Amino acid sequence: MVTIKVVKFGGSSLADAVQFRKVSEIILSEDSRRYVVPSAPGKRFSGDTKVTDMLYSCYALAENGEMTDEAFDAIRERYDSIISELGVNISLNNEYEEIKKQFLSGCGKDYAASRGEYLNGKILAAYIGYDFVDAAEVIFFDTDGKLDEEKSFNAIRKAAKKHERMVIPGFYGSNFDGKVKTFSRGGSDITGSIIAGALDVAVYENWTDVSGFLMADPRIIDNPRSIDYITYHELRELSYMGATVLHEDAIFPVRRAGIPINIKNTNAPQDAGTMIVAEAPARASKRVITGIAGKKEFAVITIEKDMMNQELGFGRRVLEVLEKHGVSFEHLPSGIDTMSVVVAESMIKNNINDIINDLGKAVNPDNIHVETGMALIAVVGRGMIATRGTASRIFSAIGKEGINIRMIDQGSSELNIIIGVQNIDFAKTMRAIYGEFVKEAE
Ligand code: ASP
Repeated sequence: MVTIKVVKFGGSSLADAVQFRKVSEIILSEDSRRYVVPSAPGKRFSGDTKVTDMLYSCYALAENGEMTDEAFDAIRERYDSIISELGVNISLNNEYEEIKKQFLSGCGKDYAASRGEYLNGKILAAYIGYDFVDAAEVIFFDTDGKLDEEKSFNAIRKAAKKHERMVIPGFYGSNFDGKVKTFSRGGSDITGSIIAGALDVAVYENWTDVSGFLMADPRIIDNPRSIDYITYHELRELSYMGATVLHEDAIFPVRRAGIPINIKNTNAPQDAGTMIVAEAPARASKRVITGIAGKKEFAVITIEKDMMNQELGFGRRVLEVLEKHGVSFEHLPSGIDTMSVVVAESMIKNNINDIINDLGKAVNPDNIHVETGMALIAVVGRGMIATRGTASRIFSAIGKEGINIRMIDQGSSELNIIIGVQNIDFAKTMRAIYGEFVKEAE
């Protein structure tokens, strides 16, 4: 039996004709790559504009009655140059006319943005000789704006019976009222995951412009190692803390079906990339930590009150105040007579005085103070569960650099340790931890 794969290509993988050629070679080099999900053309060079962004701005002009021929023709030109450079036998002129008409008659910004993937899918299908299947016919949303999984899965399975090889554009589907609706930005990853889940394929390959996940941000760590295997859980922890390659919601449809995601590099297809799996094979776990990620600009609200530990409902009342002000919290480190709430600074910047007043009324504390300028760093690794001494190694590595640790939080799963330091110590802390753990495994 042939292994079947869903292959998704991101915007930079399909930004121009040169990239299209690489993609076609990748797809056609393996019989297993039967279902293809393209993004819209992305940036060709730094400073370039993604077609999706061009569509959003062009539609905004159309809504104000200010759409110019130049704005629309710039989009058309992106596709026509790909078509002519590839020499593929297809004309999208009728499509352009239809889209223009729709733009002028208030089609909505989702429809407008979705045309990026739609047109790219048409070209790719013609170029590689696969059938084109419109995502509006196989991806459906319900009245809450959520994926209608049953309807979508059925439609995808039906399409796969009819088309042995197909290109399905990413990023959009049909809303309950029949109109086109998109996922959030970067949503082609989700389309690929849904198709993979529906068809229960062997692997979901997600092709991008990096060879998988790196252990740390290359802007901070020189030449960080790449991650061979990462579990879905570890990935959630790392992406939450700022590591991005894959849309967060793309994990769920494949995770349920137990399908691994392989992040691969269109510009270096020989690289193994990163495998995202439910459980990593034993041989893949020689490193104690899998990755480090972090974010700056957090604030700590510390509430002190003697005998707090005996006051029933104290924590609930604190959190109710935050909820009322629309503030979600990140961590809740607490002591016997103190409770601290770590929140993103942006969440409290305009209403901190009101929050403090309301906290005063709700729990009558002895003292409340707010400190800003904290960075959080997550050290994530399934290897930490079985290894003693990891925390002490992290702390001594940071201590050797003379950095003061302001907060520590270990998730009860033992999969991560979160460390709070001052914003200015952020990069230094990351380097200290990385240096401590990576040298040992090489
Ligand atoms: N083209 C869309 C975006 O730029 C969706 C995607 O690329 O996944 O967000």
